[in-house]
This record gives sequence, structure tokens and C-alpha cells, in this order.
Amino acid sequence: MRVAFLGLGIMGHSMAANLVKAGHEVAVWNRTPGKQVEGAALATTPAEAARRREVVWMCVSDTAAVEQVLFGPDGVESALESGAIVVDSSTISPSATLQFAERVRAKGADYVDAPVTGSKIAAASGQLIFIVGGSDPTVERLGPLFAAMGKKIIRMGETGKGQACKLGGNLMIALIYEGFAEALTLTTKLGVDRERMVEFVNNTMVRSGVTDYKAPFVLNHDFTPNFPLRLMHKDIHLMLDAAREHRVKLPGLETVEEIYEIATEEGHADQDYAATLVLLEKWAGIEAKAVTSTE
Ligand code: NAP
Repeated sequence: MRVAFLGLGIMGHSMAANLVKAGHEVAVWNRTPGKQVEGAALATTPAEAARRREVVWMCVSDTAAVEQVLFGPDGVESALESGAIVVDSSTISPSATLQFAERVRAKGADYVDAPVTGSKIAAASGQLIFIVGGSDPTVERLGPLFAAMGKKIIRMGETGKGQACKLGGNLMIALIYEGFAEALTLTTKLGVDRERMVEFVNNTMVRSGVTDYKAPFVLNHDFTPNFPLRLMHKDIHLMLDAAREHRVKLPGLETVEEIYEIATEEGHADQDYAATLVLLEKWAGIEAKAVTSTE
């Protein structure tokens, strides 16, 4: 298919490369020049990338970035043709997604929200899971592109429901990890060996995908970013905004947000979100085992 891919960050670069590898005709664009994908045409504006493309796929930082790429100067909107499909794999606001979709549909194109789960490793190996909101026929048409970048798509319903589900999932990840980090901090302070504590977690019902994934990094105090703290913090703000919009109270998340705020102030934004452990250890007077890196 003829695809434009907009945003060549940690995720987008690998996703676009996998589209090229699968034989699609890809044009790429990135806000900051200098990024390229071998085998893809390089565009100088989002509009140039989007012109005469069947599909325009985005993976940029946040809601403001998507708005800029779509509707800013030289944005996608000016080049959109009737019948094209805009797909957003960024994690952004569900309510803004509905507004963006309405503007895109006014041009005779369709809009699909398809945020992803899986970190940079899954993006590189084409093993992402897409959480998809959009109409059935449009999502069907995207099948070969999803297959090139991911291992599974989960259909959540109409436009916006993919983003809503993604926020729900990340809310759980943030809280589960914080529970793990607090338990490790308390038990370390009580004199329990950390490796034994992880062995206990691994063998009981408290085990989860989050603890499985994070335990080896935490044991090494390795906070090299797989999912940077700044992006999880952005997602926590999206969750709290959505909660406010819909009059939902999230007291646990509000407290965790304060920890992310302090972690950001203390310079951990570009480390993995697992680095919130460092603050808990500091407050508990526990000495860190190893030096951390930001890659
Ligand atoms: P990233 O490495 O920080 O890349 C962000 C990309 O967005 C860059 O290409 C950046 O361009 C672009 N961008 C930022 N602001 C922009 C603007 N105003 N206009 C145009 N482009 C703009 O982020 P990432 O890790 O690839 O994540 C991308 C999205 O996927 C985020 O929404 C994130 O929450 C989500 N996600 C990430 C992961 C993960 O593990 N990393 C996992 C699941 C979902 P420049 O190069 O010019 O800065």
C-alpha cells in the first residue's frame, strides 16, 4: 500500500522500517530533520508525505503533536484525499481523538485510533499489539499494515475507544509497578533480600506481566528507558484529564502522579518509569545498588 509515516521517534522509526520491509511504498516525515528510514521516501512536510497516499499513519508524542501534524501549517489536512485513512498510534486524549476524527471525516477520509502496547523491543521486532477504535471496513483495509508492524490487533469499538482502553491499561501498569516498587522498598528496609522477594512474587498470585518484565531491570537498578518516565507521566495526565472530563475520581493515580512530578523534578524523566523506585529508596534511606543509565 502507499503509506505516509509521520513521526520517527523510538516507536515510529521501527514501525516505518517494518512497513518498508513488508514491501509497502512508504514516505516518511519527522519534525526534526535528520531522521530517515532506509527504503522510504523522505518528505519535508506532513502534507508532502500525505499527498496521494492511501494511508497516513502517525506516531508522535502527544495530543498537541497530533493536532500540529494534522492541522498545523503544511499539515496532513490540506493534502487529504477522499477515501484515505488517517491512523494514530500515538497515545493521546480520547476526546481530542473524536474532534480530530470529525475534521478528517469532513474531508471524506476516515480515522482510526490504534495506540500500541509493547515497548521499543516489540516495535523493532514487529510484535506490537494494536488497540483499535474505528469502523469495521476501514480497519479491515488496514490489515496488511497491522500485520507488518504487530502480532495482534484488539478491536475496542468505534473511534476513540482504542485510546480509552490504552489509558486504562497504562493506568494499571503505573499502579501495579508502583505497588511492586513500594513492596520492594518496604521489604528491603525490613531486611528481606531483594532477589528472594522477587522469587516470592514470581511464585505467587501477586505475579503479573509488569513484575515479570520489570524485575530483572529493578534487580540491576538498570533504568535504561524502555518506556520513558516522561511518556508515562504524559499518559497519567491524559488519564486524570479524562477522569475530570467524565467526573471519575482516581485517588490512587493522583498520588502516583505526585511521585512522577517529583521524579521529573529530580531528573528522572528520560529514564524508564521504573526509576520511581529510586525516590522511594531515597525516602526510605536505602542505598542504591548500582549506577543507573539514561542511554
Ligand atoms: P519519542 O521517541 O519521544 O518520539 C516522539 C516523536 O514525536 C518524535 O518523532 C518527535 O519529533 C515527534 N513530535 C513531538 N512533538 C511534535 C510536534 N509538535 N509536531 C510533530 N512531531 C512531534 O516517543 P515514542 O517513544 O516513539 O512514542 C510515541 C508515542 O507512542 C507516544 O504517544 C507514546 O506514549 C506512545 N508509546 C510509546 C511506547 C514506548 O515504549 N516508547 C510504548 C507504547 C506507546 P522530533 O524528532 O522532532 O522530536
